[in-house]
Order: sequence, then structure tokens, then C-alpha cells
Amino acid sequence: MTILQSQLNSWIEKYPLLKNVIDLEPVVWLNPNRQKMDSMSGLAVNLEDMKQAEELWQRFAPFLAAEFPDTSAAKGIVESPLCEISNMKKQLQNRWGGEIAGSLYLKCDNDLPIAGSIKARGGVYEVLHHAEQLAMDAGLLSNEQSYEQFSSDRFKQFFSQYAIGVGSTGNLGLSIGIISAKLGFQVSVYMSSDAKQWKKDLLRDKGATVVEFDGDFSEAILSGRRETLAKRDAYFVDDEKSKHLFLGYSVAAFRLKQQLENEGIPVDADHPLFVYLPCGVGGAPGGIAFGLRQVFGDAVHCFFVEPTHSPAVLIGLMTGEKEKLCVQDLGIDNVTEGDGLAVGRSSSFASGISEKTVSGIYTLEDRQLFELLALLGDSEEIFVEPSATAGLLGPLKILETDYAEANGISMSSANHIVWATGGALVPKEEMGGFYQRGKTYLGGAE
Ligand SMILES: *Cc1c(COP(=O)(O)O)cnc(C)c1O
Repeated sequence: MTILQSQLNSWIEKYPLLKNVIDLEPVVWLNPNRQKMDSMSGLAVNLEDMKQAEELWQRFAPFLAAEFPDTSAAKGIVESPLCEISNMKKQLQNRWGGEIAGSLYLKCDNDLPIAGSIKARGGVYEVLHHAEQLAMDAGLLSNEQSYEQFSSDRFKQFFSQYAIGVGSTGNLGLSIGIISAKLGFQVSVYMSSDAKQWKKDLLRDKGATVVEFDGDFSEAILSGRRETLAKRDAYFVDDEKSKHLFLGYSVAAFRLKQQLENEGIPVDADHPLFVYLPCGVGGAPGGIAFGLRQVFGDAVHCFFVEPTHSPAVLIGLMTGEKEKLCVQDLGIDNVTEGDGLAVGRSSSFASGISEKTVSGIYTLEDRQLFELLALLGDSEEIFVEPSATAGLLGPLKILETDYAEANGISMSSANHIVWATGGALVPKEEMGGFYQRGKTYLGGAE
């Protein structure tokens, strides 16, 4: 959209922080429109939808266990561990100052099976949902049979008549490409120019068609959508407005609840839970935040994290313009090395929900992603991709604000979960390069 100077001036007058965002300064924004559960209404999805999504995952578990060896130990349930990272907590305090009260955990979606990133939740779910629908409509599914039948030649033959397309900077493409090819679909992944070569190679290796596109993510989506929908029997996974991706992510909340119970970690008004989620279009963090609010109500406080150069969800929620406003409209370049975070425009579906569920958003510079990567590697021997480190500064960032005070929260008994969103599939040399870069930044002048 074209922004008139007068419009811009009036936004900046109303939301002074927007000026800092436009100047690419790291900011912490608190959401004035976060709703308490008892006044939360009008959301496009609900707890029942989440339960149905969990049931779909359960139905497909025998298929996933059969096709993806990395899920077989968990009997086809795609889930990641929750790890306490107390060494990293010390490192964060040493390096940046401040006292983090309570325990610090990492939700290791960097290790999720199938796709090695958080996209194994949303992306895989959406394709499974679509496949089930097609099979059902064709009368292929009988109630008695296990979904292991999706592994059969008969099913693969059936799905080979259908095409799936997706536009992606990388990780979403990987998840959609891998699961779709496995089911037998003809799958095309439309990738932006900044997508990593190894991701393209891996996808081709798995049997997906990679269409390279000159331009950023929005343009890859645009041409992907256009080319896919021009085909007969084709389905486009639309990161900019997908309800299914959102629901696939939301199920993480049920799983996390179970993990916290197993560890004896309480979540209630006296033991608030803070969760920090790296954010691109807002689907993954939005789905998880929505799910967590459904499960833990007002006791959970979710913060999104975006690069200073790609604050798509931040500008959308701050101004209330949501997906109508993109970062380029404000002269922000959308250039970041955080894969999955280089997004100029937010998901319309997710934004309409996140505006009520999320506690706030902070931004950070790319340099810090690498610093955090190296610190996490050194202190915990956990190696994640740069974007997946963004949440690690969260516990310190909220100390800069009056969030706890304003919400009557005692931080002394809080717990913090940093959502690590990707990394397992990153080639060793690439990861070594990220780490070295982080070490250089850490060693260099502040
Ligand atoms: C996709 C992705 C995100 C953010 O998810 P969105 O749904 O785009 O907000 C964060 N981190 C990584 C590594 C991702 O791949």
C-alpha cells in the first residue's frame, strides 16, 4: 500500500515506537490489546479445532512411523524435547547483565523429525490434512484400517495425480516438499532468491521440483500461488493465510503441557510461564501462542521475536493494519540472515488471532543471532540455526519493560521457554561457519 507522509506522521504520533522501528533500532513492544481469557472472543479457531488437529496427527502416526525412521521411537508422534539450559542462562547474564529469575528451558524444535524445524508441525499437518481429505472424498479410506495404508503403492499412485505447491524461503518448502513427495504428490516449491543452496539440493534429492524465483518471499508466494492454481487438481499451501498451518502448530501446546507436567513444572498465576518465539509471517508463533493460551489461559505470556530488518508482525499489530502493511511500505528492506524470518508481510489469518493472544514483540539485530548461536553451542553443545536463537534474549528483554509490574506478576517464580525453531538439517560446514561468525562477533568490540 502507498503510505502518505501525513498517514505516517499520524501513526508515529500515536505509536512513537514506530519511529524506532523504522530507524531499525531494536525495540520491545508490549501489546496493549492482549485479552484475558474471559474476554477473549471472536477467534477464528477454538480448542475443539486444536483437539481435532491432535486427533489427525494420531491417525497418521502409524504412517509417519513407517515412513520416517526418526519418528519411529516416538511411534510416529512428531515432537521435540524440552531441555533446561542453565549454563546458557549464566552466559546470558554474564554477557548482557540482568538477573533472570526462574528456570530457562529450550524447546528443541530444531530437532523435530521429518523437517528439522518448527515447520514439521504446520507444514506436515497441512499436507496430511489435505491427503486425508482427498482419500476420503475418493472413498479410499475405511474406518477399520490403520493409516499405514498411506504407505501403500495404491495410495501413492492415487496421490500422484495431484499437485501441491508452496512458496518458501526454505524451511516451509522443506517440510511441504518432504512430506508431499513421501505421500506421492507432485510437489513444486517456489523459492526466493535468498533460499540456501543446500535446501534446494535436499528438496530435489527428496523428489520435489524446485522453482527458483528472483525476488523475495512475497514474490515467491505470489508466483507459486499463480502457477499452482493454474493447474488442475492442485493445492497451494498459503503461508500468508493458512488456517491449517496454524492448527498444526497449535497442537504443540498440548504436548508442552504434558512435558511440563512430567517435569513437575507448574504453570499458574503464581508460576507464570514466559515463552519466546521467533516470528516470520506469524503462523508458527501465532499458532503456538494461541494453543498455549487455550491450555494455560492467562498464566502464559508469549512474546514474538523479529529481526530489526523484517518486523512484519510488529508493524501490523502496532498500527492495527496487520497484513495490509508490509515492511517495505515503511522503507524497511526485509534483509536478514534469519531463515524463516525474512518476511515483509504478516499472515492475515494468524495476525487476527495474535493481536489478542500475544504479550509483546521484540526485535534484534542479525549480529546477535550469531552471537547467541555461538554462546548456546559453547554452553550447552546445542547447535541451532541463527533464526532459532532469537528467543534467547527474551528473559532479559522483558526486564527492560514494566510488563511484570503492569500485570501484577512476580517474576521470582516464573519459568522461561525459548522456542528453538530449526537447525537439525543444516549441513555441518554451514553450521561451522555460523558458529565462527558468532565467535568473531563475541570476541570483537561491542
Ligand atoms: C518458519 C520459521 C519461523 C517462523 O514461522 P512463521 O510461521 O513464518 O512465523 C521461525 N524460525 C524458523 C527457523 C522458521 O523456519
